[in-house]
Amino acid sequence: MQAERSEQLFALAQTVMPGGVSSPVRAFRAVGGTPRFIARGKGAYLYDVDGNRYIDYVGSWGALILGHAHPAVVRALREAIRRGTSFGAPTEAELALALRIREAFPSIEKIRFVNSGTEATMSALRVARAATGRSKILQFEGAYHGHADFLLARAGSGLATFGLPASAGVPSAWVQDTLVAPYNDLEAVAALFERFPDQIAAVIVEPVAGNMGVVPPKPGFLEGLRDLTRRHGALLVFDEVITGFRVGPGGAQGLYEIKPDLTCLGKIIGGGLPIGAYGGRADLMDLVAPVGPVYQAGTLSGNPLSMAAGRATLEQLTPVLYQQLEERAAQLAEGLRAAAEEAGVPVRIHRVGSMLSVFFTEAEVVDFATASATDRARYARFFHAMLTRGVYLPPSPLEAWFVSAAHTDDHIARTLRAAREAFREVARG
Ligand code: PMP
Repeated sequence: MQAERSEQLFALAQTVMPGGVSSPVRAFRAVGGTPRFIARGKGAYLYDVDGNRYIDYVGSWGALILGHAHPAVVRALREAIRRGTSFGAPTEAELALALRIREAFPSIEKIRFVNSGTEATMSALRVARAATGRSKILQFEGAYHGHADFLLARAGSGLATFGLPASAGVPSAWVQDTLVAPYNDLEAVAALFERFPDQIAAVIVEPVAGNMGVVPPKPGFLEGLRDLTRRHGALLVFDEVITGFRVGPGGAQGLYEIKPDLTCLGKIIGGGLPIGAYGGRADLMDLVAPVGPVYQAGTLSGNPLSMAAGRATLEQLTPVLYQQLEERAAQLAEGLRAAAEEAGVPVRIHRVGSMLSVFFTEAEVVDFATASATDRARYARFFHAMLTRGVYLPPSPLEAWFVSAAHTDDHIARTLRAAREAFREVARG
């Protein structure tokens, strides 16, 4: 496979953009090699600037549940763009999308659109702090809720109670109110509530973790969080930026039947255009300006193009489509498991709906520590073996793969053929 043009562009890009990219994982640092510069996408395929074609399982990091350039989305965008790109004023399109989301998420009584998942979580937690008059936020190790300063925290060692900055440029004071517990560890959460009575404003959680690879909640984990937050007067915030409209029509909260106080959305609701949203109980959302005292605003928020692409996408998401996604993703996961076994490569495959991960390990993966302990070098070899065979996987062992409605049985079969060879290559070392 030839990547000459990508190599040239990447060399030049690195002279003008940090790492040559607009977002770090794209630089292939976790797997090595040259990131492919993408010329276009159509359906299940990505096409790079060297003319290579790949079956894509990144789908713009989960945003493209219908695949690339879906005709209905392109049509909606064409119509919207003719009417103008931004008005900085209310539109019917944002109202329609808000109503559609509320219909799918009964916990969302009111919603505010923003431009990214980062803004959604940052703003939702501002509301949580205002509503409770408390400052501390509890998040989970290995979660990603965007890059707001106070959420770039990692667990302190041992008995340290405060979070430590997970990024340079974040003063320790910014994360001193951020507590970090291991994912799937209710006891740790309970202990933090005991230790900081009446101080925790909210627990924010990815109801299916997607940023340490896919790690599903253990049975009882989300219920336990709901119970603990309620008992301690804290809010439960679901970060469904990935899982919203992904793991089912009502997101993870619909799937597991848990009602959070606030929900963060992004990705799919924008149909591949920039978007984020946060919503929840009306009494909480009415704390947001201009009704309430919590300030939050955005020049391009509710952008008509994002609204149009989002609406067109959500219109396609029928029960039949979710059934088909479920079946295809199951087929893929099962096939990968069989292929790995055949090659004698131990793996753990996690799947919830159409998001999945392959961890190279024999051990159980339940949290960030166990996900990080998997064989990442093996993933990198597998990644390149697949890329060479025309399958584009996330360029990191700790990111989710996404199946889209554009993946057909034939795409899955071809992916599995490539995987059988790739696992054998990994086994040879
Ligand atoms: N929350 C979750 C769960 C995410 O996966 C992401 C991004 N992948 C974000 C928040 C941040 O969203 P954005 O990149 O749109 O700021």
